[in-house]
Amino acid sequence: VIDLSRKVALVTGGANGIGRAICIRLAACGARVAVCDLSPGDAERTAGEIGEGARAFALDVGQEASCAACVDAVAEAMGEIDILVNNAGIAEPVVGTLKQKPEDWQRVMDVNLRGVFLMSQCVARRMVAAGRPGAIVNLSSITGLMAHRASNGYGVSKAGVVMMTKTMAADFARRGIRVNAIAPGVIRTTLSKDLVEGGKVARAAFLNRIPMGDFGEPDDIARVAAFLASDWASYITGATLPVDGGWCAF
Ligand code: NAD
Repeated sequence: VIDLSRKVALVTGGANGIGRAICIRLAACGARVAVCDLSPGDAERTAGEIGEGARAFALDVGQEASCAACVDAVAEAMGEIDILVNNAGIAEPVVGTLKQKPEDWQRVMDVNLRGVFLMSQCVARRMVAAGRPGAIVNLSSITGLMAHRASNGYGVSKAGVVMMTKTMAADFARRGIRVNAIAPGVIRTTLSKDLVEGGKVARAAFLNRIPMGDFGEPDDIARVAAFLASDWASYITGATLPVDGGWCAF
């Protein structure tokens, strides 16, 4: 079994979707979990679902001061952080490059890429200062591995997460901090609602594109996050693992 008992995990965007599933899964493996989210009400709800061992915290990964305050608040309330899951992410309106608004592009970069940098820096600084090992798991996407139309912000930010994962893995390897990423395929959440529930034709085309013939569930990602965060992955760092029903393989 994957044993995360005595570990403290901070999950960004932990209130809903994949982040919520990760919080529930890490808690099931024994970790105490900080559910950190832009929506404090949703974070309270998810922490309440998990019960003892989970707490909710307000966080906007797009704001430097919010990242620093959240990391300090979690460490003070729950103890030093062993596991950081950089899950918070947003997508821009689906338009091609020619019609894309620079402010939409920038917002996606601020949350999906700069947010991963800020949170990782805050948490890793504490890990290094405390002389403690740790694990960071980032959420990239198959859109960061293969080009998709109308995804100049999202896809580019997620490709950035792949390289940031490698860069931080290199920076932290001798400190005992492992950094890995997951590249999910299409997973049933609010973020992918339009694709998953879209018109019959679009839906069929998508399902046809997925070798395993179905969309994924949030817990398909959460189980891999638990693995990468655990000692079972003790010799893995700098990797991005596609969890996509075979999408990237064909
Ligand atoms: P979601 O929209 O269902 O949930 C995202 C959560 O993040 C929400 O609770 C939201 O409040 C929170 N959040 C948004 N902005 C935030 C911010 N600035 N600070 C803190 N929290 C914030 O999304 P999801 O589908 O669960 O996606 C989770 C991650 O997985 C994202 O990084 C996403 O890009 C990635 N991903 C999702 C899919 C998919 O098909 N759903 C595929 C590939 C990658």
